[in-house]
Amino acid sequence: MPKGIWILVEQAKGQIRKVSLEILSQGRKIADQTGEPLVAVIAGEGIANLAKEVAEYGADQVYLLDSPQLAQYTTGAYTSALNKLIREKEPKAFLLGFTGLGKDLAPRLAQRLGVGLASDVTDIEVDPEKFLVFKRPVYTGNAFAFVETTSIPAFATVRAKSFVIAEPDASRQAEVIQAEVSIDPSDLKAILKEVAIAASSRPALTEAEFIVSGGRGMKGPENFAILEELADVVGGAVGASRAAVDAEWIDNQFQVGQTGSIVAPTLYIACGISGAIQHLAGMGASKFIVAINKDPEANIFTVADYGIVGDLFEVVPLLTQEFKKLVN
Ligand code: FAD
Repeated sequence: MPKGIWILVEQAKGQIRKVSLEILSQGRKIADQTGEPLVAVIAGEGIANLAKEVAEYGADQVYLLDSPQLAQYTTGAYTSALNKLIREKEPKAFLLGFTGLGKDLAPRLAQRLGVGLASDVTDIEVDPEKFLVFKRPVYTGNAFAFVETTSIPAFATVRAKSFVIAEPDASRQAEVIQAEVSIDPSDLKAILKEVAIAASSRPALTEAEFIVSGGRGMKGPENFAILEELADVVGGAVGASRAAVDAEWIDNQFQVGQTGSIVAPTLYIACGISGAIQHLAGMGASKFIVAINKDPEANIFTVADYGIVGDLFEVVPLLTQEFKKLVN
């Protein structure tokens, strides 16, 4: 009989991703409401030390998929290992982040399991009859769809910052289970040779509390340096509109919007961005939005909490100076 609210906990270099802690925290509430155990799965190599932290955030059981074949994420190896584990243990719900990994893995896994998938979920309701109902934005956030699960496990990817991370409880213990990792060689259609990531000490866009983004108004790649300086004063991230990415002024991993990252920082500063609907879909959930634009009619001002009509090349350096005073 299917049992448990299962969460795939993502980690990178031995650090659990914030989005996984958010889902675990919400998972604990769902587990308490439904009377199901909360089960975490951690995949990777040498990840046993993370079980304690996962327990502190509410897991009753932790399955470790520990193997050199899972050291780096690959679609084939992760699909194979998780497909086997899920078929064997039959979770009632399976949740993971709507992250790069989640967007890649979840549809493939759902297809293997023959179940439906609710993607990019921003809320989860417990329903006595329907079990879980997933809320997800549609039409670039202008409407919401409520997705009922008709297959088991109820399967969903959850948008970062949808749930608040609970206080960890150091006294909590979990049963830790070393799961057998069996990967079907026919699933390994691609071998990962090397991961090349541009070195950055800045936080990931989806996890940042402060984001300063630039659009076509930046006029060229070299001018992003002024945004980087501002971001670094407060330990924030730099983002961009698609126009800036398409112009190849900045790498596409920094794009915010419908076809980029969906972000929800405490403070989002949009510089030289007009506020197209596809951009708003990615940053509209930010707590405070500041827009700097020389066009007083720019659409970005309709969502901004604070609007500065002016030339970003004058305003951004002044803001940086003021932030420096606050931080020092
Ligand atoms: P523009 O619209 O050209 O705006 C530039 C702004 O800079 C103007 O408002 C101008 O007044 C201002 N400006 C110029 N110089 C200065 C200055 N010196 N000081 C201050 N302000 C100045 N876009 C995204 O961003 N993210 C997405 O994920 C995305 N997905 C898309 C998906 C689809 C299917 C489609 C069709 C489009 C998508 N777009 C996306 C593109 C989107 O429609 C817009 O074209 C894009 O967001 C515009 O970028 P922008 O605001 O930087 O440029």
